[in-house]
Amino acid sequence: MSLLLKNVILKGKKVDIFIEGNRIKRIGKNLNLKANEKIDGKKEKAVLPGLINCHTHAAMILFRGYGDDLPLKDCLEKKIWLLETKLNKEDIYWAVKLACLEMIKSGTTTFNDMYWYVDTAFEALEEMGMRGVIGPVVLDSFAIGQKKEIERVWRTLKKEKTETISFSICPHSIYTVSEENLIWAKNFSKKNNLILHTHLSETEKEVKDCLKKYKMRPVEFLDKIGFLNKNCILSHSVWLSDKEISILTKRKVNVVYNPCSNLKLAVGEIFPYKKLKGKNINICLGTDGPASNNNLDLFEEMKFGSLLQKHKEKDPTMAKASEALKWATINGAKALRINAGKIKEGKLADLILIELNRISLLPSHNLISDLVYSATGDCVSDVICNGKILMKDRNIKEEEKIKKEATKRAKLLIRK
Ligand SMILES: [Zn+2]
Repeated sequence: MSLLLKNVILKGKKVDIFIEGNRIKRIGKNLNLKANEKIDGKKEKAVLPGLINCHTHAAMILFRGYGDDLPLKDCLEKKIWLLETKLNKEDIYWAVKLACLEMIKSGTTTFNDMYWYVDTAFEALEEMGMRGVIGPVVLDSFAIGQKKEIERVWRTLKKEKTETISFSICPHSIYTVSEENLIWAKNFSKKNNLILHTHLSETEKEVKDCLKKYKMRPVEFLDKIGFLNKNCILSHSVWLSDKEISILTKRKVNVVYNPCSNLKLAVGEIFPYKKLKGKNINICLGTDGPASNNNLDLFEEMKFGSLLQKHKEKDPTMAKASEALKWATINGAKALRINAGKIKEGKLADLILIELNRISLLPSHNLISDLVYSATGDCVSDVICNGKILMKDRNIKEEEKIKKEATKRAKLLIRK
């Protein structure tokens, strides 16, 4: 299969991009190459790398707006956890499809997911054509989060060969998973060369409880059990001491900034970007699940992420638009170990086209600034992932059916 993008704007210049199979084969002016499919940018579409969401729980889209404006404890205990115990595979299937729909429509081509029923999520994700890293949650208190169940899922999934989906292991956090199970997950990740994805230091309570229980801070504890390395993806990482930052630097980990979720759940501290940047720590961007954001639009996340840092440091030059775009592209690709995040010959063909004639992008002084500070995901017109067109002129196959089925499942869950 081949695809030719004609007359698209790349870094201010009009070019053609030829995609063969799942790779960007050639970038140049007036390419006269035969292709199975063609998209003409008609000089008013810019091309960008597909965005990468490094921390989410896609299926939680069924709970969007269901437990808002409550203390976190009430939201979880009285709302979300009650519904989660009723979830079945059919719910997960339509939920993941709806989440993929929202992500594709807002320019995301890849996401890193942590949730239940990974085999069902796999099926939905494969049908939607996005790239994803999906992993089961290890959680002491849930039957489905136990070692045996995770090993069973892993045995089924590792037989599946796909270019777009890979797997991770996701111990939920240090406060919901015992030391023994954290060590097991770490060893499981090492043995199977899997990404090790967890929540870290989201709240002050987590740090205080860790000090009480283990007599050290969360990063110190994880380092003591040999958990930290370059395959680790640590979401939130908000409450960090200088000593913890130096350990994270030494271990070359990936951290995920989730500004909207942190604000909405009022975690009381802001991600320490100034202290983390420029070190051997890869900083990525995530939305977190749709119950705590409440959308999956990385354009919005880039804006919140950048503004929050300017505010925190009382410095408008902090976290520039170009830095925010890196969090959501090249840095995300590095964390998820994929050869994407940049438009270059030889890279994976994960690209999005932006409609430049949108009001939010006019009068076009600086595209990157406009995208980060002004636009939303609605400005994305076309999405290509792994060389395949997932959205053309904002149309996606089966969109109405997915919206209807997922909504039906969410309403049924509440009535169950
Ligand atoms: Zn999360």
